[in-house]
Amino acid sequence: MTGGAGFIGGHLCRALVARGYEVRCVDRAVGEDSAGGVEMLRADVSVDSLDPLLEGCDAVIHLAALPGVRAMHSLSDLWHHNAHATARLVEALGTGRRLVLASTSSVYGNASRLPTPESSPTSPLNPYAVTKLAGEGIALACARRGADIVVCRLFTVFGPGQRSDMAFSRWIDAVDRGQPVPWCAPPDARREFTYVDDAVRGLVAALERGRGSEIYNLAGTGSTPVRDALAAVEDILGCRARLSKRRTFSEAAITAACGRKAHEELAHVPRVGLREGLERQVEAALDSLAVPLAAA
Ligand code: NAD
Repeated sequence: MTGGAGFIGGHLCRALVARGYEVRCVDRAVGEDSAGGVEMLRADVSVDSLDPLLEGCDAVIHLAALPGVRAMHSLSDLWHHNAHATARLVEALGTGRRLVLASTSSVYGNASRLPTPESSPTSPLNPYAVTKLAGEGIALACARRGADIVVCRLFTVFGPGQRSDMAFSRWIDAVDRGQPVPWCAPPDARREFTYVDDAVRGLVAALERGRGSEIYNLAGTGSTPVRDALAAVEDILGCRARLSKRRTFSEAAITAACGRKAHEELAHVPRVGLREGLERQVEAALDSLAVPLAAA
């Protein structure tokens, strides 16, 4: 797996080990202390030699990327890590070994159909989405020449360990500290929030049962107004949020996934709803903030 030191990657490592896989985690931000059944290798898949990293691997789940629709990475960095790195991996794997590519719902932009099936036209609204779509395009073009590629489009993943730049992490931190909540979404935004364990089960199902050259939406239990998600965070924490001045970014107003294809072909059914998942994320975030009495 690439990107195994990240948010989704950490959960995926544990899930794969629990299913009996031997896991090699390649990440440019990882220590090389292999533990818990996972072999850790520090490497940058956009520049380092891939053959030694792939030696002995039957398949790769490719999560490594510069993620985030609001991240302020340069276009060339986004291209390098999201598209170029994918091209290198596809090339190095050749035709005999499967690549599961983690892509994003952001490729749809403001989708013309809601809930959005995989056949909907893509219309990325920001450089991150453009470079993720380029990665998909490169991978699927190679699939037409025999590479074994499955693309998964993930929809706003949340849960314990969520990246600190993502909305729920920032909100929990701000509400807990009594600071204004940074509000970045369009006013009436809705999002298909996906609990991380559901995203991980979908990726594993794509690895094991996905049809080559196909794209699968991996989604949550339904699209929710972003304001309702904030209300749930307030309710769980027992505090009201003050919103800070609104900043908007180039992102979709509404995301809503059609999960029929993943259901029918991968037998994938998301299990964890927004409230339950948020409770777990808040609990984990507060646990990580807690200062042990002895250290105080
Ligand atoms: P993350 O930033 O937590 O993890 C990404 C990991 O990739 C990091 O550990 C980083 O060090 C590593 N990495 C980046 N470039 C690398 C390179 N060139 N070589 C080696 N390692 C590299 O991100 P995440 O939220 O876990 O997202 C994982 C994947 O899922 C990404 O591809 C992202 O585009 C996709 N995705 C995530 C979400 C979400 O809501 N989190 C939604 C849609 C798609």
